[in-house]
Amino acid sequence: MRAVAVFPNDKIVKVIDDHSEPKLERDTEVLLRMVDIGVCGTDREICRFDYGTPPSGSPHLVIGHESLGEVMRTGSAVTRVKPGDLVVTMVRRPCPHPTCRSCRAGRQDFCFTGDFTERGIKGRHGFMTELVVDDEQYMHVVPPHLRDVGVLVEPLTIAEKALIQIWDVQERLPWTASGRSTADGHGQNALVLGAGPVGLLGTLALLARGFEVWVYSRDRETDAAAQWVASAGGHYVSSQTTIIDQLSVKTGNIDLVYEATGASELSFQTLKVLGTNGVFCFTGVPGRKSPISIDADLLMRYMVLKNQLVFGTVNAGPDAFAAAVSDLERFRTLWPRQVMSLISGRFPPDTAIDLLTGPARGIKNVVSFLA
Ligand SMILES: [Zn+2]
Ligand SMILES: [Zn+2]
Repeated sequence: MRAVAVFPNDKIVKVIDDHSEPKLERDTEVLLRMVDIGVCGTDREICRFDYGTPPSGSPHLVIGHESLGEVMRTGSAVTRVKPGDLVVTMVRRPCPHPTCRSCRAGRQDFCFTGDFTERGIKGRHGFMTELVVDDEQYMHVVPPHLRDVGVLVEPLTIAEKALIQIWDVQERLPWTASGRSTADGHGQNALVLGAGPVGLLGTLALLARGFEVWVYSRDRETDAAAQWVASAGGHYVSSQTTIIDQLSVKTGNIDLVYEATGASELSFQTLKVLGTNGVFCFTGVPGRKSPISIDADLLMRYMVLKNQLVFGTVNAGPDAFAAAVSDLERFRTLWPRQVMSLISGRFPPDTAIDLLTGPARGIKNVVSFLA
């Protein structure tokens, strides 16, 4: 069957038509027909051969980790999904080490050893192909009316895992209502760095919880991203017209920074404007560049005197996937036009190579083998 694959040894990216069809081998497994596969920065980096590891014994790695699939067949012990269901499949699989407390607890997103595998990235074929088999425990059902946007669940889980942790750590503030069910961002200012898919999905997640949201990015105030943010009810500030030091004049006390750029210099500059009792959450992975200079004395002084907390987050657990599915449903009701417009286009696999290796364009490009 057809698949989009990288051959790291030969430094080739191409559509292959002889990828072997997966079969149901265990009674808890599910066969999916892939509906949509999203293209993201990670895929583009794999196609630049920065990383990406084929399964052992295979010269190629099928890429793609943001997906929406339709259940075709289920093993005899499968109970949570049935043929016809739409599902999003999780990406990371646990490491084998008995001492890894997080993996043994089913939370490989917190893996201690780094010996986890990831579909489409590290040691396992991904989803940019026609048929996929996986265990039902890694699948999350998406309601049928979210078919056209369900592929956004996986990138949205980044914000969802961040938010789950933000509520957890902010329970340190005694006046904050405890328990996530009552978690409420009203009266708090959130700053989102970056206006790519991760930043914009994070913006909606924060708006949906009542935060006053400010998005800070390179695009000008007249650009499409700025208009998108304003139309959803957020504020947009361009780095071309406002320097970071002036941000908090506009926003007031910044309670939360959600970083979605991977730009280390911008991020550490922004740490200077994080407010009293604030939380700064990193989600981006910077490319290896030369060292940057930061005002460590100032940052350390602020972190102490303002009770600040800085953390990073990667991947996502089942709770974040469940939250992403229910949030996407909320977004669809609150901002139907904005959610739809995040998907720049659906493309047949033959054009995927250009999306993966050509100049970056659009917000979220989607590859479909059904197109
Ligand atoms: Zn991705
Ligand atoms: Zn582990």
